[in-house]
Amino acid sequence: MKYYILFGPPGAGKGTHAGAIAEKYNLKHISTGELLRAEIAAGSKLGQEAKTLIDAGSLVPDSVVEGMIENAFNTIKGVDGFLLDGFPRNLSQARDLDAILAKRGEKVTAVVSLMIDDEVIRQRIAHRAAIEGRADDASEATITNRIKTYHAQTEPLIAFYKEAGKYYECDGNNGTIEDNRNRVLALVESIK
Ligand code: AMP
Repeated sequence: MKYYILFGPPGAGKGTHAGAIAEKYNLKHISTGELLRAEIAAGSKLGQEAKTLIDAGSLVPDSVVEGMIENAFNTIKGVDGFLLDGFPRNLSQARDLDAILAKRGEKVTAVVSLMIDDEVIRQRIAHRAAIEGRADDASEATITNRIKTYHAQTEPLIAFYKEAGKYYECDGNNGTIEDNRNRVLALVESIK
């Protein structure tokens, strides 16, 4: 099984391009953010607890997202692998992912990173707020905290996966959605 991590700051276009990658390589796309938003929409206890943190632009507890990921690995069949989007988000999740995969006799295949500058993060999120109506896209304070959270907690994963020889990055700042999709697909194709 392949275990790809789709990496990048909020608004980089991970969700926009995940479908094309997943389809091309018969992977199941798992977005922890989408799973959490589904819990909120369903009104579950987990969703109610997560909502406050998500609306503040902070991370939900590791145990919550790791439970979702393990559940997906255990239940989803008929694919050649997984495309993880928005997970892992900090070093302890990355180490726990390694442990979860080791238990299954598996390991992370590669990290596919779509990199954008902070100014582009703000533009993309402002644009998406008008289209998708996500509560955490609507407030300046929340966006600022998500950017801060990304730099403080998620960015260190770049060094972690470079060290492991698994980090592959392309630029997501410029060009059309299609240009960026082609760039990401070419990057995945280049990984052997
Ligand atoms: P996303 O859709 O990936 O931008 O995620 C939206 C929000 O869900 C994030 O700002 C976090 O509050 C929460 N979230 C998503 N994935 C994770 C994760 N791996 N760890 C902790 N919180 C997460």
